[in-house]
Amino acid sequence: MKIKRVDAFAIRIPDGMHPNGDTTVDEYEGYSIAKDKWTSIYSKHHETALVRIETDDGIVGWGEGQAPVAPRVVKTIVDDLCSPVLVGADPFDVEYLWYRLYSAMRERGHGTGFYVDALAAVDIALYDIIGKTVNKPIYHILGGRYREKILVYAGIGTNNPSAAAESASEHADAGYRALKLHLRSSNCDILEIVAATRDQVGTDIELMVDIHGTRDVSEAIELGRGLEALDVRWLEAVTLAEDVHGHAEIARALDMQVATGEWLRTSWEWRQWIEYRAFDVAMPDIARTGLSEGKRIAALCDTYNLPIAPHLGGGGTIAVAASIHYALAVPNFQILEHMHTAHETRSRIAKIYPSPKDGYFLPSDSPGLGVEVNEDAVIRFSI
Ligand SMILES: [Mg+2]
Repeated sequence: MKIKRVDAFAIRIPDGMHPNGDTTVDEYEGYSIAKDKWTSIYSKHHETALVRIETDDGIVGWGEGQAPVAPRVVKTIVDDLCSPVLVGADPFDVEYLWYRLYSAMRERGHGTGFYVDALAAVDIALYDIIGKTVNKPIYHILGGRYREKILVYAGIGTNNPSAAAESASEHADAGYRALKLHLRSSNCDILEIVAATRDQVGTDIELMVDIHGTRDVSEAIELGRGLEALDVRWLEAVTLAEDVHGHAEIARALDMQVATGEWLRTSWEWRQWIEYRAFDVAMPDIARTGLSEGKRIAALCDTYNLPIAPHLGGGGTIAVAASIHYALAVPNFQILEHMHTAHETRSRIAKIYPSPKDGYFLPSDSPGLGVEVNEDAVIRFSI
């Protein structure tokens, strides 16, 4: 079996959840950046990059590289750099192909970012092909499943206490037992919002807080201590993404979990964060790492007795499906991110796709990812 053709698609689906929500922003042609802090650029729509790989015997695999902005960059990398290497190769050489493509650009300093996102999309598509070829779900190809179902938490993005409490209540009614608030305002405001949410949902619902790197070390520790009093499970992205020592200092100072690492794509990037024990919960994003490298990251973390909670903030339905297989197939999985309010919009490129029930994803025994892509919709949402 050989790869016959590789196609990449930059996707934009209108009306996706806007992560900047009710924060004050500067607008830039469909994108926005919050005014208050040095935080990420977001699209007003769901944007991502998909890869379709077809073999000479007609098997088609799909992959996703998480590109929440500028997905045409990932498409161009796949078209110009990955496709020439892949066409004519055997899809079962998936780990070799990831390594060959990674090595092709490491000397140029492209060991992360958009380039590795493109490799993630290719890697997931190759696993989809392998699963469809041998008629097995991907978790089986990855070595078997460790659990019966995948616990998820749902994200909430509002800076208003009563709106956050109301949203938490709606999510609890929809069956979620764990919720994460995305909060970037002052420590006082955050504590007020979380207290209102805790009052609303009681102590049966787990709460997490993601502050998107907006604190310095002492501010994060102060906030964490306040959140511990509200029985918050974890504090995420506690300070700047470059500050491994600051993360470690915060992790040691707090009793609650420090969760981090959505920006770390390879085991080489993860290594020093693990060695410094700069976090308590690792958050690799499978649409950035791919499944091959994601498994290596999980194994490295497991060696150090560190759990995995895959990040899925901006991912679409292919990323969701790949993350479920990954979560089933690693020993140290803890909980999976899920965007309840954006799920249906982001799933518009598929006819059959996973959805959680009562706060859990159940395994699909369909071959490969278990997603039936709607190719007409992919073309319709391509930019
Ligand atoms: Mg996050």
